[in-house]
Amino acid sequence: MHRTTPPRPVDITQEFPELLPLARTAIRLHPRPGEPVAGDSSVGGPLLWPRDEPWPTCPEHAGPWHLGFVPDEVRDSRRVLTAGWARAVGNRLILTPPEREVVDRVGHSGRRIPQNGPVPLLAVAQLYARDLPAAEGEGLWPGPQGADLLQVLWCPFEHGDDCIPQVRLVWRKAAEVGPALSTPPEPSVIEDESYLPGPCVLHPETVTEYPAPLELDEELAERVGTWEEPRDHLYHYALSVAPGWKIGGWGNWSFCDPWPMECPDCGGPVRPLLTIDSAEWDNEQSWRPVEDEAVCAAPGVVHPQPQEPTRITIGRGYTMQVYICERSFGHTPLQVMQ
Ligand SMILES: [Zn+2]
Ligand SMILES: [Zn+2]
Repeated sequence: MHRTTPPRPVDITQEFPELLPLARTAIRLHPRPGEPVAGDSSVGGPLLWPRDEPWPTCPEHAGPWHLGFVPDEVRDSRRVLTAGWARAVGNRLILTPPEREVVDRVGHSGRRIPQNGPVPLLAVAQLYARDLPAAEGEGLWPGPQGADLLQVLWCPFEHGDDCIPQVRLVWRKAAEVGPALSTPPEPSVIEDESYLPGPCVLHPETVTEYPAPLELDEELAERVGTWEEPRDHLYHYALSVAPGWKIGGWGNWSFCDPWPMECPDCGGPVRPLLTIDSAEWDNEQSWRPVEDEAVCAAPGVVHPQPQEPTRITIGRGYTMQVYICERSFGHTPLQVMQ
């Protein structure tokens, strides 16, 4: 099923023609729970990985144990909760004693779990160029020429000042993978259960974005601010930057001012590649695809909630933006939490 973002309530370029040259195309990925295979674009699905290529690891966490969660236990608990809510009467979840045990084993604060040696990275997402919106596919591919597959992995432990998982990007040509790895290694422990993506299939769709209010120049920001003041900050929430997982577009600066960003390796300019979001839309719902209205309107509780299909939470429900160097696809990506 496609996903369709409703038309924006106002054509903001009629009000502010100076925004026109600032328009950028973003690709909303619209992840939804499913059973992706290595040949599919996905979040939380298996990656198409050459059998003979070493699986990437993070060397920064010496064992012999870590406080955290076991990926398979998190998966079991999610499965039990999804099934439990599906048969719930009204808003009351009823679990059998064995099911309760599965959920309780995961708990809330984690426990000591053995993990020795470098931590295998977790597969987070992959995107085939062919799954980008058809008519514009070529122009929208964000990677190097000759590659047609973007793979995203991360270390499921907190890194850096923002305390977020550290991302690794891999660009490849799918046809050159050859015999594929069937069972990738997995960490025995992850720091937070919300760092384990649930398997989702993608429904890429293009939308047009304009800079977040904090990224407009001062004079224009002031005029936009005056315009949107009596309109419940319509520009900020409904007209500028789309929520949810996406490729490209603008950064969704919200709680801190934009700062000059540069490539960690060469100091060169960077551009937004991928946004990983805790939710696909917010309470304002302007960005909720029309195809998701019915499930949201249905009575009872759906688990996971329709707006949180990937189970990933960044910080307290924020976003993680991954920027890449404009000079080299091989340089370390820059990660920002917003
Ligand atoms: Zn790490
Ligand atoms: Zn660079």
